[in-house]
Amino acid sequence: MSTPSGPMRCCRPVGGKIVKVGVLALQGDVSEHIDAFFKALASCGCREGSTVVEVRSPADLAGCAALAIPGGESTTISRLIDKNGLYEPIRTFPGGIFATCAGMVLMATDVADPRVHTLGLMNMTVDRNAFGRQRESFEVDIPVTGLLDGPFHAIFIRAPVVTAAGADVQVLATLDQGIVAAEKGRYLALAFHPELGGDLRLHERFLKNLGI
Ligand code: GLN
Repeated sequence: MSTPSGPMRCCRPVGGKIVKVGVLALQGDVSEHIDAFFKALASCGCREGSTVVEVRSPADLAGCAALAIPGGESTTISRLIDKNGLYEPIRTFPGGIFATCAGMVLMATDVADPRVHTLGLMNMTVDRNAFGRQRESFEVDIPVTGLLDGPFHAIFIRAPVVTAAGADVQVLATLDQGIVAAEKGRYLALAFHPELGGDLRLHERFLKNLGI
């Protein structure tokens, strides 16, 4: 058996696919996403040579089957996406996108904040900071469509909600304030932070949905 040669490499010796996942590394909880995807690739049976890489420029997207857009500050991430010439390359990226919290804001078509240049990849309206400030952050167990073996322990940190979604967006989870998990084909947007809790079921679901 081989062992991981570093934190960015996946270790399965035989079988499975060789998969490269990118994590948008402009601002936010990048290393947590790298760790979670590294573990998820292993649990999905991906082969040695699979990698999780930081994405800072359009060239970094080459060969990626998926991109994670992390939590952080959507105004800052948006400004840096534009500055680094990543807006159109992400909009036309052919792989899956796993977007959490600030990432969910960026995936939307509409947000009432002119500082966020949304990617418009999912037809939905988001309300930033819908639950209040940092100290109003909370954790709750929520049922998520498709996760049949129990609720998901979701960590909300200055989270957004989706207040309206188009017919082509599948709602996976809601709270009283609105939609907190949504999917459109290869795109998954979550108001909470699965990369922080150690439960990889949403990562695995996302990768399986991509045929990984
Ligand atoms: N409130 C932040 C925003 O709108 C998101 C917070 C987070 O990603 N944890 O950018």
